[in-house]
Amino acid sequence: MILFPDLPDLLIEHVDIADEITLMLRTTSPTSSCPTCGTSSTQVQSRYRRTLHDLPSAGRPVHLIVHLRRFFCKKSTCAQKVFVERLPELCRPHAHRTIRLQEALCLLGLRVGGQAGADVGSEMGLSGSRDTILRLVRRSGQPATSEPRVIGLDDWAYKRRLRYGTLICDLERNHPIDLLADRKVSTVEAWLKKHPSIDIVSRDGSSEYASAISKGAPQARQVSDRWHLVKNLAECVSVQLAESLAQLRRAEQMRTRSETKEKGHTSEERHPARTRAVQHAQLARQAERTARYEHIVALQKQGMQSAEIALHLGVTQRTIQRWIVTGTIPYSGPRKQRPRLIDPYKTYLLKRWHQGCRKGAQLEREVRARGYKGSGRALYRYLETLEPTRLPARSRGSPSTEHQPNPLLALSAQQATWLFFRKEEVLKAEEQETLRQMRQASPHVETTYQLVNAFLRMVRERTGEQLDDWLEAVQASHLEAFQTFVAGVQRDKDAVLAGLTLPWSNGPLEGHVNRLKLIKRSMYGRAEFDLLKRRVLHQSKRNQERKDKYKHYQGQQANRLLKNGTNSQHTITGISRVA
Ligand SMILES: [Zn+2]
Repeated sequence: MILFPDLPDLLIEHVDIADEITLMLRTTSPTSSCPTCGTSSTQVQSRYRRTLHDLPSAGRPVHLIVHLRRFFCKKSTCAQKVFVERLPELCRPHAHRTIRLQEALCLLGLRVGGQAGADVGSEMGLSGSRDTILRLVRRSGQPATSEPRVIGLDDWAYKRRLRYGTLICDLERNHPIDLLADRKVSTVEAWLKKHPSIDIVSRDGSSEYASAISKGAPQARQVSDRWHLVKNLAECVSVQLAESLAQLRRAEQMRTRSETKEKGHTSEERHPARTRAVQHAQLARQAERTARYEHIVALQKQGMQSAEIALHLGVTQRTIQRWIVTGTIPYSGPRKQRPRLIDPYKTYLLKRWHQGCRKGAQLEREVRARGYKGSGRALYRYLETLEPTRLPARSRGSPSTEHQPNPLLALSAQQATWLFFRKEEVLKAEEQETLRQMRQASPHVETTYQLVNAFLRMVRERTGEQLDDWLEAVQASHLEAFQTFVAGVQRDKDAVLAGLTLPWSNGPLEGHVNRLKLIKRSMYGRAEFDLLKRRVLHQSKRNQERKDKYKHYQGQQANRLLKNGTNSQHTITGISRVA
């Protein structure tokens, strides 16, 4: 009863429990109906045994051996003379597995894929190879979906820059409803024509989707996706900011150049700055020595003789004694400069340098003639200290620079754009400071900031009615980089307006495209389109229930909002990462 609740006509005759569980079963119904004509028959022709794999029990594989009968069809006109009795609740004709085992394998295939499903299944005692699982997945029916009203279209890369497909989502129910093998106008158009119930289509700014929608679903209102709008704007702004930052850098360069000219050649040789790494190493050395000295003192206090301490620490006894006698930390301050072979020739080199001789090879010949025995490298290293402007890498960290470098100079256009597009309140204090400095750097940058901010406000607050004003403001600003963006908006104005007004966006599609990518990659490049499609469109029952519950809740919220007369409470999923 517990094993087969749905099959009252099946009798368990014998159970054999070993490493595997084997059940002998027999049908008890006296009659069976012909599958062709439906006539009931009692006349048995013969009997035979069928073996079926079933779901495992307590970790042991279960086999069913079912004794079945063949019947004569009594209807003389029926083409089928003999038929086998069927057990539609237990198994399909000719199958080696029970329906519930097939369903379990199919589910594994849909959720984790063919090979992974076979591996997991075999651990759990489910019998089924990768090929079996894939066959079951292919045979499984497409999930039934109700006719969509609001959909979103987005492309996904089958092979980046080479082949793209289209993912279609029902935005009201938030689940993918179809996967198209490409993103051609004709394919999308044909799909839309099959679904006349569609009222609203959200899409990116691509002209291909726009034309497919106007051909395939002329009744539908097109919504330009907000995330894509912001992304396009960010690209334009990034160009603008790159220009402004480049100008800033040029100005700074001019300034430093004129400054060094003023100081001119009055400056004597410059000592290369002690870089941070050198300072670090020195501090570490010093800390290590202090620790060792303290260790010695501690050991001595314990009554240890200097010979024992020396053995313990691996230094000579003399060193220990010296340190104890001096009674201080044995070393402090930077390492002393050892005399270099180049030192006696420095004055000569400096003189020649100021006379205008900048050729290393020439100078080397001259000092060698005067008896220099050191390496050429040491000579060049010294010459490098004479011309700071030629060596930006060395002069950068120099503590002798009086002028504080402008932090904007280290900013990339991308970083600057990022500062512009995030909400000001989420910026860290130093980021806010950088932003403030940027805005003060030039009037162009300030205007750019104002325009970006106004656009993002429309996106966040869904106030599309301000779009015309915004476009006029851009025209008035004469900012070159905005022109491409504005041209795009003008071309697609109705959809942009809808995007800035309606709650729909492609935000939910992003998640589904990511899931698609994950599934595609988990198939190790063997992703055949039909399998990929089945896996992407598959919805687990529990997931669906959760979504339905959420939708119900959202519906209640929407009703409440309508009553209160506000519409700005929706969260903008797609944009939240950028804006
Ligand atoms: Zn028949």
